[in-house]
Amino acid sequence: MAIRTGQEYQQGLSKNPRDVWINGEHITNVVGHPIFTASIKEIAKLYDLQHDPKFHDTMTFKSPTTGDPVATGFLPPRSGNDIKKRSDTFRIIANATFGMMGRTQDYLSTMLMSFAESPHLFDKCGPEYTKRLTSYFEYVRENDLFLTHALIPPQSDRTKSSSKQEEEFLHMGVAEETNEGVIIRGARMLATLAPVADELLVYSLPGLKAEDVKHSIMFSIPVDSKGLKIICRRPYSTGQHNIFDHPLAARYEESDAVVVFNDVLVPWDRVFIYNDVDASNDLYTKSFVRQHAAHQTAVRGVAKISLAVGTAIHLARSIKIDQFLGVQEKLGKCISALEMIKGCLLAAETNVVTNEKGQVYCALEPLLAIRNFMPRAYPEVIDILRELGAGGLTMNPSKDDIDSGEIGPDILKYYVGAGDMSAPDRIALFNLAWDLTGDAFGMRQLQYERYYSGDPMRNLANTYLGYNGDDCLNLVEEALESAKHN
Ligand SMILES: Cc1cc2nc3c(=O)[nH]c(=O)nc-3n(C[C@H](O)[C@H](O)[C@H](O)COP(=O)(O)OP(=O)(O)OC[C@H]3O[C@@H](n4cnc5c(N)ncnc54)[C@H](O)[C@@H]3O)c2cc1C
Repeated sequence: MAIRTGQEYQQGLSKNPRDVWINGEHITNVVGHPIFTASIKEIAKLYDLQHDPKFHDTMTFKSPTTGDPVATGFLPPRSGNDIKKRSDTFRIIANATFGMMGRTQDYLSTMLMSFAESPHLFDKCGPEYTKRLTSYFEYVRENDLFLTHALIPPQSDRTKSSSKQEEEFLHMGVAEETNEGVIIRGARMLATLAPVADELLVYSLPGLKAEDVKHSIMFSIPVDSKGLKIICRRPYSTGQHNIFDHPLAARYEESDAVVVFNDVLVPWDRVFIYNDVDASNDLYTKSFVRQHAAHQTAVRGVAKISLAVGTAIHLARSIKIDQFLGVQEKLGKCISALEMIKGCLLAAETNVVTNEKGQVYCALEPLLAIRNFMPRAYPEVIDILRELGAGGLTMNPSKDDIDSGEIGPDILKYYVGAGDMSAPDRIALFNLAWDLTGDAFGMRQLQYERYYSGDPMRNLANTYLGYNGDDCLNLVEEALESAKHN
């Protein structure tokens, strides 16, 4: 099989009833349910884009096993052109969702490709583990599946490692080993889009302790596996949102979920790391995950922050506050943040690295700089947008009010912007700004940028720990030395 269409993606979801809990409801078929209609539609659209003649050549490449077109997210780069093809694909997807959906298909296809590019990590557990991982990668690529992942144990007591929690399997781990596979028990977070995914990939961020051996496992299972419960957070958009009132929230809500394993059997051919804390902890730092995933997230991040900066500029012009020095300064900050991120992305894509095996990846440092900067830059831009909109963000009437014969004329008169900006146009713009800054949807977007790639504090610390500061340190030596002889 090659790339799927949106319809095939939806048929796949309907075929496999799952165990989803949301807003007090138990749902087995998410297709057609109002809470999930928008996200399924958006993901389906992205599948369809692969078939659009305008994008097909960029978004696909020839499968090495069948020759059929498969999604570019799975392409292991071997040249600068491959990096560009990947980047262009990320951009098409990010622009189609304005960067608002973080866990689109290209994210986990990239993760999986990065793991397949790092066989040494799985070899540690034995050659059969590498073979399983590679076969799984091919299976997902050839069937164009949509994955979610769950990397974090739930926040119970963060001073204790997984094995030292009050309950033995509060944090997900291996409860039993059988001839068919392992039995998994306990909980994991935070599987974004789990209700509408085909498969769940489970592994850990670095930080497992030696005693956490039964928690050091990497595996995948279909989302409809027996015993797997998907408990979603309270939805911010339940499908009732009008698209005029909520131009973003009505379309791009991504459900987040805790996944609970009630003795789920994971067959051996789906176990990729087992009983090996070191292998588990190395998955991030000793694979190509950081380079490739941070590339995808950087391209998506540019789309998102561009929308926020553009909204701030448009809003300021709509009421002519951009004539004031203080407002210009704030907009200058927004533009500088955007340009810094774009500059780092360009540096990462220009300074690609080719290793001795011919594997090609973006320069890591500028990508890490984006990862570290975005959790501060995005909230700052959103804060500025909120300040510029001020009370205007909370004066918007609903679409129904605008359409009302009785108050509609008042709204058309009193809600206009500067110059010839009509009231509906001004309200639409401020609705966009509210979705970004004030609505629960926008608050989650903020939280996402802060935490989606781990704790920003530890990410910054790890950037320091992994940094080869020779260039800077040599300069210091030179300055000290030259001072001695002056
Ligand atoms: C919207 C959203 C979507 C997400 N989607 C996914 C997803 O699809 N899949 C997935 O696996 N994960 C996802 N995540 C989870 C993300 O990986 C975690 O939020 C992130 O790794 C941080 O972990 P935590 O939330 O458990 O925070 P914690 O690690 O519990 O940290 C909480 C706070 O305590 C501080 N802290 C914690 N431990 C220490 C320590 N040892 N020393 C000092 N300070 C400490 C941290 O700095 C932080 O401020 C998502 C998160 C968000 C917000």
